[in-house]
Amino acid sequence: MNLEFDQQHIWHPYTSTLNPLPCYPVSRANGVYLELEDGTQLIDGMSSWWSTIHGYNHPVLTQAAKDQLDQMSHVMFGGITHQPAVELCKKLVEMTPAPLEHVFLADSGSVAVEVALKMALQYWHTKQQHRPKFLTVRHGYHGDTFAAMSVTDPDNSMHSLYKGFLPEHIFANSPECGFFDEWREDDFEDFRQQFIENQTSLAAVIIEPIVQGAGGMRLYHPTFLKRVRELCDEFGVLLIADEIATGFGRTGKLFACEHAQISPDIMCVGKALTGGYMTLSATLATKHVADTVCGGEAGCFMHGPTFMGNPLACAVANASLGLLQQGDWQSQVAAIEEQLAVELSDIGHLENVKDVRWLGAIGVVELHQPVEMASIQKAFVEAGVWVRPFGRLVYIMPPFIIQPNELTKLTSAIYQVLDQSR
Ligand SMILES: *Cc1c(COP(=O)(O)O)cnc(C)c1O
Repeated sequence: MNLEFDQQHIWHPYTSTLNPLPCYPVSRANGVYLELEDGTQLIDGMSSWWSTIHGYNHPVLTQAAKDQLDQMSHVMFGGITHQPAVELCKKLVEMTPAPLEHVFLADSGSVAVEVALKMALQYWHTKQQHRPKFLTVRHGYHGDTFAAMSVTDPDNSMHSLYKGFLPEHIFANSPECGFFDEWREDDFEDFRQQFIENQTSLAAVIIEPIVQGAGGMRLYHPTFLKRVRELCDEFGVLLIADEIATGFGRTGKLFACEHAQISPDIMCVGKALTGGYMTLSATLATKHVADTVCGGEAGCFMHGPTFMGNPLACAVANASLGLLQQGDWQSQVAAIEEQLAVELSDIGHLENVKDVRWLGAIGVVELHQPVEMASIQKAFVEAGVWVRPFGRLVYIMPPFIIQPNELTKLTSAIYQVLDQSR
């Protein structure tokens, strides 16, 4: 592979052309292993950013893609429909919380968020109420596009630079009470205040249920989410759950909303939807939201991307959801959680570690100081694992199929690398 060309000409996520860091050449991937060009096998701790829940090159998913390629890879979705989309949307309606029954298929997580926010705005447009604001919490992450950036943490994120170009929404303090902590009612006070002060201009609340992902890997108390739902109900404000990272079993429930026994008015899914094979996302809405959106002046929902409902992506997503429906994800994720509780607690004793936390198949080690990216990345690869930290966070969310000895190798590598970098 021409790594020099890569370094000189290709942008990777959040990289510089002035000071490009070298990338590792992966030539194939199987199960929980990434294989580098020189034959090195790395145990994958990232699931390619939450997505490859069944592992790489899964025979069922690969076969589904091949079969669909022989039928058609793509066809426009305007005025045309196809079996992979119908089957997928049926599964999504069945698997998500009950009142969600209308599905909008989109291209990526960020677009699913744009679609959700547009639905909320159109909903209030139909009702002829001027409600231009969204309320969310700090440390959130909702994507890279403009509307998604505008509800992502304004100060601690990659996007603070864009502040002057974005519509200003309302940010309440993020939850402090951890998932396993005892609930303290004052944890919700700031959110309640911001909500009440602004409620007549609020279109919706948008929040990542239970787990705040790229904005800080924070795992918060289900009662916080319950309170959000109660307030939204009381004042008729819509609730958008961004389940793009948490959806499809990652937190131990099929959807993280289930931890709080609530259902949103609008829900975004993405990342693991195709088992990590390709990009696809969906925004689901209740009948009430969908019908209100469509009952206004425009007479329809105003969105329709070129590659909407891509049959190839839908076919693989069907296969992935099929595996979840018949599969062992629940016991796999429970076993991962149990093992993380033990093995991360050990890491918590290192003096450069500030906090360790876990939920489902998510493990987080928060350090006192930011990591030195180039050197720590190299140390992890030398230890035989793929872990990609950011800032003060070293975290893993491995494929659900990881075996106990492989998970131990991952957590021991973290222990060893952090111990050596003190
Ligand atoms: C990753 C992520 C997004 C954005 O998805 P992309 O596919 O990267 O556009 C949005 N919300 C959450 C919670 C995410 O984790």
